[in-house]
Amino acid sequence: MNVHDSERISGLLESAGYELAAEADPDVIVFNTCAVRENADNKLYGTLGMLLPKKEANPKLQIAVGGCLAQKDQDTILEKAPWVDVVFGTHNMGVLPALLDRAKHNAEAQIEILESLDVFPSTLPSKRESSFSGWVSISVGCNNTCTFCIVPALRGKEKDRRPGDILAEVKALVLDGAIEVTLLGQNVNTYGVEFGDRGAFAKLLRACGEIEGLERVRFTSPHPAAFTDDVIAAMAETPNVMPQLHMPLQSGSDKVLKAMKRSYRSAKFLGILDRVRAVMPEAAITTDIIVGFPGETEEDFQDTLEVVRKSRFVSSFTFQYSKRPGTPAAKMDDQLPKEVVQDRYERLLAVVNEVSWEENKLIVGTEVELLVSSETGRKDGKTNRLTGRAKDNRLVHFEVPEGGIVPRPGDAVRVVITRAAPYFLVADHSPGSLYEVRRTTGGDAHDRRQLESCGVDSASSTKVGLGLPIRVKSAI
Ligand code: SF4
Repeated sequence: MNVHDSERISGLLESAGYELAAEADPDVIVFNTCAVRENADNKLYGTLGMLLPKKEANPKLQIAVGGCLAQKDQDTILEKAPWVDVVFGTHNMGVLPALLDRAKHNAEAQIEILESLDVFPSTLPSKRESSFSGWVSISVGCNNTCTFCIVPALRGKEKDRRPGDILAEVKALVLDGAIEVTLLGQNVNTYGVEFGDRGAFAKLLRACGEIEGLERVRFTSPHPAAFTDDVIAAMAETPNVMPQLHMPLQSGSDKVLKAMKRSYRSAKFLGILDRVRAVMPEAAITTDIIVGFPGETEEDFQDTLEVVRKSRFVSSFTFQYSKRPGTPAAKMDDQLPKEVVQDRYERLLAVVNEVSWEENKLIVGTEVELLVSSETGRKDGKTNRLTGRAKDNRLVHFEVPEGGIVPRPGDAVRVVITRAAPYFLVADHSPGSLYEVRRTTGGDAHDRRQLESCGVDSASSTKVGLGLPIRVKSAI
């Protein structure tokens, strides 16, 4: 969600006349902050401290801080770092250009934090990082009250976007060259509750299946409590919905789940995975796990390890519990000592890595279709490898054979997996082994963007020159 918001902030500033600064002395620096983990606070204030000498040397430099931490800390940011020019919240990203102008005009810091959303962020312009893959927000906020989580306090109650608006945005992305779309929400399977349709998420997936040119549909995140069979059926029966599911476990102990106010129990969680695998045996399931929640005993921790072993996650995002001020768990008495949390975290990591490696080994020798990445898709000189994502979202480094076609980011490649590691797979080439490249409209979109970034008008292939009017340089 944060990455997607950053794309909106970039698009918004660009449409207001700003440009990304290539050099190290921008006129504007924007921080889009996250407050989910404790480290984010420390990092922000540390970085703001480092910017003070720059600000003193160049008083025209503007610094803006937005996102969840700004929503949470509000005035504190200006108390700790009075050289910040603008503070804006999660609900009003759209006002950033106006606040920057006002701060400059009035020569004083501007804070604007709204308590609830007025304009759905998806109506703001966006500057997408990828030309062939895009995020589409279907809801913001969350109606749950997980006791460790700061999200409801900062993002507010769930607000659902109308299906017609979402599908129009997906179609516009596809027209612009995207072949992969990820539907985003804090809790995607409660989507529709606000407008009275509990089956809306399954319908949305099926409607995405009708969009011509859209090859891969993903979503994040569902919640085990509200994950219903109509969604499983829609996933299985809609060919462009990918066989991938991120299902946050958080803990395998029913006692801890109760204390976390997660309204499912481990048996229900495992039952969902069984039902998903019954209709999509190829589905890759990933998760989030927190260790060291207040009151977690060694026995509770062993329950988590047991559920991890049974769940066969292909990868797990593991977190050490940290107190988030403003959450109910931060006030619980039985906080665990740091060494206990660290020890459990290391033992959990060993188990999740072992399970992921075993799961990855199972697909060695099978054929996969990869979407070539641009972010990690650098050609490695020694191995001649590029990187792509399989349909189930696993990361695969694949070898381009000597003399073989080099795919563009956004193209599709068919290869056979030759080796597994805990965090990725490898597809090395040998004489006669499969290597097929399919050019896609995503690859075309990537080419177009490359040309445009060099100042070439890709529609007419004529140079438009590099001296475009620049109002102000900025780094985002
Ligand atoms: S469902 Fe997710 S976003 Fe909502 S309160 Fe729980 S952890 Fe936070």
